[in-house]
Amino acid sequence: MDKALGSVEYRRQVPVIDEVEVLVVGGGPAGLGAAIAAARGGARTLLIERYGFLGGNMTAGLVGPCMTAYSLDGSQQLIGGIFDEFVRRMEAIGGALHPSGIEGGSAWSGFIAYGHERVTPFDPEAAKTVAIRMCREAGVEVLFHSFVADALTVRGDGGRPRLDSVITTGKGGLAAIRAQVTVDCSADGDVAARAGARFEIGREGDGLMQPMTLFFRVSHVDDAVVEEYVRTHPEDYRPFASLVARAQKEGRFPAPRRGVGLYKTLEPGVWRINTSRILKRDGTSTADLTAAEIEGREQVMALLEFFRRDLPGFQDCRLMDTATQIGVRETRRILGEYTLTLGDLKNGRRFEDVIALCGYPVDIHDPTGAGGGVTPDLQVANAYEIPFRVMVPQDIDGLLVAGRAVSATHEALAAIRVMPPCFAMGQAAGSAAAMAVARGIAPRTVSIPELHARLRADGAILGTAAPA
Ligand SMILES: Cc1cc2nc3c(=O)[nH]c(=O)nc-3n(C[C@H](O)[C@H](O)[C@H](O)COP(=O)(O)OP(=O)(O)OC[C@H]3O[C@@H](n4cnc5c(N)ncnc54)[C@H](O)[C@@H]3O)c2cc1C
Repeated sequence: MDKALGSVEYRRQVPVIDEVEVLVVGGGPAGLGAAIAAARGGARTLLIERYGFLGGNMTAGLVGPCMTAYSLDGSQQLIGGIFDEFVRRMEAIGGALHPSGIEGGSAWSGFIAYGHERVTPFDPEAAKTVAIRMCREAGVEVLFHSFVADALTVRGDGGRPRLDSVITTGKGGLAAIRAQVTVDCSADGDVAARAGARFEIGREGDGLMQPMTLFFRVSHVDDAVVEEYVRTHPEDYRPFASLVARAQKEGRFPAPRRGVGLYKTLEPGVWRINTSRILKRDGTSTADLTAAEIEGREQVMALLEFFRRDLPGFQDCRLMDTATQIGVRETRRILGEYTLTLGDLKNGRRFEDVIALCGYPVDIHDPTGAGGGVTPDLQVANAYEIPFRVMVPQDIDGLLVAGRAVSATHEALAAIRVMPPCFAMGQAAGSAAAMAVARGIAPRTVSIPELHARLRADGAILGTAAPA
């Protein structure tokens, strides 16, 4: 249905409704980090978001817990700054547990040990509240119900086109917003793609992307029974894997995957379920997103039947809610000044322009079948680095990209796509954007030592200086 049946001529004057110093598109983990950092850095900052609340996958996607903000072995905190502040603010209103106290292999971490040390369980409603509070306290202006549909460039100074404005759609119709620097945190690189930046999509060879998942939560679960069953069945690599395999043989399990992805929440008897799996759909296609939403919902209903019939502790479970939208793990990856690779993660490669550390392993859900997820097969270093250049598009000035659409291979993105590093990348992009505005320079030319000083002063963890 996305295929055009021809085209229509469409010309209309679009009102410019705002002109800001820093514009952040998308209010997920990356966008929150970017907007709060840019405003704290002194820039007049506007954050626009398509929904009526902030948080992105943390809230609209019902995704959680936040994966590790620590080294792979859980011994060392790697992500601080706005992410850590955000978690502590949620904790203060009873809506999160700080990762320092959370063990891998526990019910909080989905009973998975490898790569799941020091996750952050949180309540999505607490995330919505803390997100808007932190933005307002920092002086971020927020415009909800605004979807970026287009982006306009002008001739730039350095020979590249410069992003001038984005075109949003909403109840008020089309509107233009102009910015000196824009940070694309839409997760799909919507702004970058509309502006003409080059990008890659999917894995090498067949271009397939990781599967989509509709998250849901169930209530009325007997927590003690679930925890006892999983503890006494260590032969199941994933929770309930043998019960899933039996139901699959009998044709009663709707999703192509092994075991159940389930995470205990702060609410007794309530679990998050990360188990539906929709293959071979493209999150940048409206028709594919529609088909995935419909298929995801049918899978959820069939999973509920399986849970009630087969899973100890879930006999009386009830569907509490499903996510506002299907969860998309992967789409566009811009072509940046540097492309992060699996080798960089394996070798813990040092970068002079490091802007974030990470210890989460490669987590590729099989684009064609039941396999994948975190396994020790694709080793990463205990801590690895993310450089500034992955956020700088080669082709366009006035634009940074943070979060899921940064420049990385399919494999490397599968590690750095989780929420804590997205906060950290966002914070670095927002800080750099504010610095670029203050100096009147292109974001790609900001001083890395100055950016490092700023990030460190704001609580980010960057490790020791990289060898020159
Ligand atoms: C099924 C699934 C399970 C996952 N499990 C985990 C997990 O357990 N733990 C973990 O840490 N991570 C997990 N992840 C990864 C993580 O949720 C995402 O990669 C992360 O949220 C990306 O952050 P982001 O800020 O780049 O994008 P998002 O969180 O996707 O935020 C993007 C924001 O931009 C807005 N937006 C998008 N396009 C536009 C537009 N054109 N105009 C205006 N607004 C727009 C969206 O509404 C959204 O608010 C999972 C992801 C999926 C899909």
